[in-house]
Amino acid sequence: MLLDRDGTLIEDVPYNGDPEKVRPVPGARAALDRLRAAGLRLAVVTNQSGLARGYFTGEQMRAVHARVEELLGRFDAWLVCPHDDEDRCDCRKPAPGLVYAAARELGTTASRCVMVGDIGRDVAAALAAGATGVLVPTPVTRPEEIAAAGWTASDLPAAVDEILRRQRAVLPTTPPDGPVRTALVVRSDSAGDVLVTGPAIRAVAAGAQRVVLLCGPRGRAAADLLPGVDEIIEHPLPWIDSTPEPVDPEDMRSLTARLGAVDADQAVVFTSFHQSALPLALLLRMAGIGRIAAISDDYPGSLLDVRHRVPVGVPEPERALSLAAAAGHRLPDGDEPVLRLRHDVVAERPSDLGDPGYVVLHPGSAASSRACPPEVATRIAAALTAAGHRVLVTGGPNERAVTARVAAAGGTDLGGRTDLAGLAGIVADASAVVVGNTGPAHLAAAAGVPVVSLFAPTVPFGQWGPYRVPTVRLGDASAPCRDTRAASCPVPGHPCLSDVDPGAVVDALRMLAVGNGGGR
Ligand SMILES: [Zn+2]
Repeated sequence: MLLDRDGTLIEDVPYNGDPEKVRPVPGARAALDRLRAAGLRLAVVTNQSGLARGYFTGEQMRAVHARVEELLGRFDAWLVCPHDDEDRCDCRKPAPGLVYAAARELGTTASRCVMVGDIGRDVAAALAAGATGVLVPTPVTRPEEIAAAGWTASDLPAAVDEILRRQRAVLPTTPPDGPVRTALVVRSDSAGDVLVTGPAIRAVAAGAQRVVLLCGPRGRAAADLLPGVDEIIEHPLPWIDSTPEPVDPEDMRSLTARLGAVDADQAVVFTSFHQSALPLALLLRMAGIGRIAAISDDYPGSLLDVRHRVPVGVPEPERALSLAAAAGHRLPDGDEPVLRLRHDVVAERPSDLGDPGYVVLHPGSAASSRACPPEVATRIAAALTAAGHRVLVTGGPNERAVTARVAAAGGTDLGGRTDLAGLAGIVADASAVVVGNTGPAHLAAAAGVPVVSLFAPTVPFGQWGPYRVPTVRLGDASAPCRDTRAASCPVPGHPCLSDVDPGAVVDALRMLAVGNGGGR
């Protein structure tokens, strides 16, 4: 647990060098003690530019910190940036240097850290290191910082309670109800949806002898990349799609027979937060599967044996892991809850692409509302090339016109040249990926490759942002498309991404490079 100091742990007294002026925020001591009791190590991560500006001395600051520990208990580490913005150091938040340093001092990695702070800089520094950021706004927090944060809490005690709740939620309270020989796991929908369910599927695989995955045609290529899956059944569930095909009774009868033939002891049905698991649960009942687990806010009656519920805002991988836990499964020790791919199926990068270390720019998306406008991607390609980056422009077979146009401004056009496994191989050797909220962002997360996320706010960033990988979020988080879940942009001009400044992408890459060699 990383905590900002001023405005988060103690009241913000600008450039305070006086221990007598230290006032903890309400409930801080008890909240920190709950974290300590849960076995979490705590570090304070703070910008103190008053040192650079000569407003107080190092000795005065240490006296303030001694007073903070007197009032709030001991911290396992103190990380201080003594610089000013003009120093352009790697440690002043929003740069991620202090977050990496804190993780090292606590004996862990940044991706396992949660950082609580009161302004956008705190959250941005956490994200840029691959940590999770929680924003606890104060009256001085700017509205756009609140809109951009993936996770906000009303005060420090509430943030701590939710952190502890999320940690507990991925651990089973009871083992599965009897041994599991075959588990049927289900994730319909597209590649990104399947990829973010990967950690939960690994958890089920750790507790079952055989895992059969039911996926749809759009998720099949991603399903092939997931560790822990022994067998795949590909079959569309028409009601899942945004432009749904009719439900054909004969087709449903044949799917039910196929699911029955799996002879599963248990089914775990993973869904997005806006989908219902119940239609499929009925088919699984008809297929004779006796133990069915799913998330359902709708009353499931006798359709589910484990009815799980998750608050809005939990990252999709954790949301799925918490369902696996409710079904009795957890990741084995040593398997971190990060996205992973099967190394044996990720394709080798074509040799004509040169050395690793290029930037992948992926302008398209399965949903046009989440794609980067081509003219913006074109300006980004030109700016990256001018800044000395080697750019590879990627896209699917139906995105060739866009990738050609973007690559003409700077970069190599790989549009239509790769399948998902091929793209995974190319992404794995990139220094960073510039991409919207779509499948390749999750491929990058799975490879530990930093992401510049051009994130259309149609769905919550906290749920769908690149998971536990160094990330810079760009785009207007409070655009009118926010939380509409729209597949095509409902607002003329696609304003959430049309104003992205190409220079900000170049700056983001500089910030993400801070962790290279030191972080993950
Ligand atoms: Zn610094």
